[in-house]
Amino acid sequence: MRIGVLAIQGDFVEHIAMLSQLGVNALAIRLPSQLAELDGLIIPGGESTTMSRLMEDYNLTSPIKELVCQGLPILGTCAGLVLLAKKVTNSVNGSLGIMDIEVERNAFGRQADSFETDLPIPILGDHPFHGVFIRAPLIREVESAVEILCQLSNGAIVAAKQNNCLACSFHPELTDDSRFHEYFLNLTKEGAFAKRNH
Ligand code: GLN
Repeated sequence: MRIGVLAIQGDFVEHIAMLSQLGVNALAIRLPSQLAELDGLIIPGGESTTMSRLMEDYNLTSPIKELVCQGLPILGTCAGLVLLAKKVTNSVNGSLGIMDIEVERNAFGRQADSFETDLPIPILGDHPFHGVFIRAPLIREVESAVEILCQLSNGAIVAAKQNNCLACSFHPELTDDSRFHEYFLNLTKEGAFAKRNH
């Protein structure tokens, strides 16, 4: 299985390390030509405005959007979640704009802009998942096609899935718990993601 990790900004190294540890062929993606024959793509955490601009400069936005619309499984973490959203408050809309979600960028304000907490994520089993939040976005609204995977105790949505798109506010690549990545890989393998987004 070949999984690409967008490697133009942000913490792509940690995603590649996690995938390699899981025995997956992980590729650092910087050129449109590298997108061919991927089984899945990860957009890492970083700075969504910078990543968005660089994606345009590297001519990556349209080809990625097209492939995801054709069914390429994609995982966006933190800034990656912002880029996947159709609507973003506090910023320009996500440059990929594929998921029917409204995201608030930097939603935790100054005092709590970085924190860690254990999260209940039923699709990963009973054992909580350690969530690392760094100037994280929150999902404020989801349309009916979107499956909510995790909420904070105050109801705020921090992980969701829609067809072949999976996204979370936190950083699974910064923990040594590989269950979130494995969930993405299993869905990719099983073709369990619906074929098309729109
Ligand atoms: N605050 C960043 C942004 O909105 C995301 C932070 C992160 O990816 N850790 O782009």
